[in-house]
Amino acid sequence: MSRIVIVEDEKKIARFLELELRHEGYEVACAGDGRTGLEEALSPETDLVILDLMLPEMSGIEVCRRLRRESDVPIIMLTAKDDVSDKVMGLDMGADDYMTKPFAIEELLARIRVALKKHRNQRENAGAHEGVLHAGRLSLDPASYSVAFDGESLQLTKKEFDLLHYLMAHAGEALTREKLLQDVWGYDFVGDTNVVDVYIRYLRLKIDEPFHVRTIRTIRAVGYMFQYEEKDS
Ligand code: CA
Repeated sequence: MSRIVIVEDEKKIARFLELELRHEGYEVACAGDGRTGLEEALSPETDLVILDLMLPEMSGIEVCRRLRRESDVPIIMLTAKDDVSDKVMGLDMGADDYMTKPFAIEELLARIRVALKKHRNQRENAGAHEGVLHAGRLSLDPASYSVAFDGESLQLTKKEFDLLHYLMAHAGEALTREKLLQDVWGYDFVGDTNVVDVYIRYLRLKIDEPFHVRTIRTIRAVGYMFQYEEKDS
């Protein structure tokens, strides 16, 4: 059963959506503000998020931005009729689709089915065509989303996994921060590329430091390159 999170502060709309989605057989969680919504959406059980943009505590755009740092869960935005700029910003931030209020429930249900199916296919394709990647004592299995060092499994977040996967698949290539943002985070990020540095640091903390290896080299004035080396202890 797919789990859908509804982030909507207008109680009547939220309630209506909840009933319709339950009727369709979905498991539903509701959040009335952006902060709670982000927490709910980040739960690993979440399969899709319906996200209103005008929200208390944290705007829908901000929820979208933060969610995309960690997760590729499909997001369908709900927008007011004239909010063209919000709509564009939301799509730029990685939302998959949007519905303009007021909307016909049948259309939303159809879009939910499409988004869920597309996401499932992407997952399957990502795993099916690739075998396990190895570098020294490090291995990454795209099919099972698992990473191990000397056979000991490592706990990575979804984004850390995606970044490591991408780096290992492009081992020996110098990759710019912009390229990593675009291919791993999935959007053109204007300006701030700090998020890449932050995630590289997380990976180094989880792999390089405890196991005394070097996996990711900093290429000055360019970005990063995956190159596995044992460090002399
Ligand atoms: Ca609202």
